[in-house]
Amino acid sequence: MIGVVVLGSTGSVGENTLDVLARNPDRFRLVALGANRSVAKLAQQIRQWRPAYAALADVNAARELQQLLGNSVPETRLLAGADALSEIAALPEADSVMAAIVGAAGLRSTLAAARAGKRLLLANKESLVMSGPLLMDAVRVGGATLLPIDSEHNAIFQCLPPQARVGEAPPGVRRVLLTASGGPFREASRDALAAVTPEAACAHPNWVMVRKISVDSATLMNKGLELIEACFLFGLRPEQVEIVVHPQSIVHSLVEYTDGSLLAQLGSPDMRTPIAHALGWPDRIASGVEFLDLIRTGRLDFQAPDSDRFRCLALAQAAARAGGLQPVVLNAANEVAVQAFLERRLNFLEIAAVIEAVITKTTGAGAIGSLDDVLAADGEARRLAHERLNGHHAARGQAPRGVHA
Ligand code: NDP
Repeated sequence: MIGVVVLGSTGSVGENTLDVLARNPDRFRLVALGANRSVAKLAQQIRQWRPAYAALADVNAARELQQLLGNSVPETRLLAGADALSEIAALPEADSVMAAIVGAAGLRSTLAAARAGKRLLLANKESLVMSGPLLMDAVRVGGATLLPIDSEHNAIFQCLPPQARVGEAPPGVRRVLLTASGGPFREASRDALAAVTPEAACAHPNWVMVRKISVDSATLMNKGLELIEACFLFGLRPEQVEIVVHPQSIVHSLVEYTDGSLLAQLGSPDMRTPIAHALGWPDRIASGVEFLDLIRTGRLDFQAPDSDRFRCLALAQAAARAGGLQPVVLNAANEVAVQAFLERRLNFLEIAAVIEAVITKTTGAGAIGSLDDVLAADGEARRLAHERLNGHHAARGQAPRGVHA
């Protein structure tokens, strides 16, 4: 039995992971669950799975959980605080750790799993974007096995030669093609883009996602972050990662070899496929995903992205080329700008303008030496982004308000 820890169990990737585990009860044993403050959902998961440990980062929520459960699940030990997540990520009884906490909050526990030499199932892309060199070092030093969960990176991993090693340039590979659905505004004009609402940006045509990731998908920043992720995971230069818009989200990505072969991974757009692939690797296990009917699918389209209308992609490509702390700055400025867009304080096109202004102010951000460098650059970029937002409203002579109202 493979012992599994699910960090971020109450989120979308976490719940999909539990769904795949439930389909393979003779293979996996759930050791621990971890989340932030979703008390009711975690309580329900604890009652169903009865793991040895469960942790909430938020101490007050953990107290509430303790009261809610009382002594009803005596086999589960409850832990509280952000450090508890790192603790369960390194448990000796855990073989595989699903890192599915969203955002920078997932950094420490992901690093802890890598240092402890676990099989690390990496959904938390922020830990690669923000601290790629540190995470890849921790994987090497800790002897961990890193398996990508993001559907595109999992697809690339599936198309690589068996002797490829994560973090090293794969033999015989010329480049990879990262597919992008193009989001809901693929065909929209610049004027139309300036007027889109958060509701429209969050209505993704193929994937069900949380609001921040939906906006990233609509601006193509998500693809830019994935490009950075791909460079670290597969030892590629940014020029070796081509973004291809593929509206049907059936081809999840492709690998091009020096002999002219192009290998692709196809499947229904459902996160349970990459999750099942990484959980079972190198075996194949049931995922519950609907099998693909190519005849019903009919056609697969591909086109180039328009980086004039979708500036965020060009900014991410530039940050990938600059390296060091630039991806940290990009990610932090983007988070602030997207939040402002969701709060109707910024229009859709202004997201890229805020990020660009922050990057311009921090050009020359140095190399990554430690997690402290990362957190300092992240904090500075957030401060500059807020400053820029406040200046933006002052220039308009208005208090922050709903620009789309
Ligand atoms: P969700 O927002 O659905 O879930 C986030 C999870 O993280 C929840 O369990 C949440 O706990 C937990 N969490 C949030 N903040 C903290 C914190 N401060 N400390 C501890 N735990 C915290 O996100 P997703 O499942 O969609 O995404 C998870 C990761 O996977 C992200 O990095 C995302 O980019 C990546 N990803 C997601 C994909 C998708 O299809 N959803 C596809 C590919 C990658 P609580 O409920 O208690 O707040």
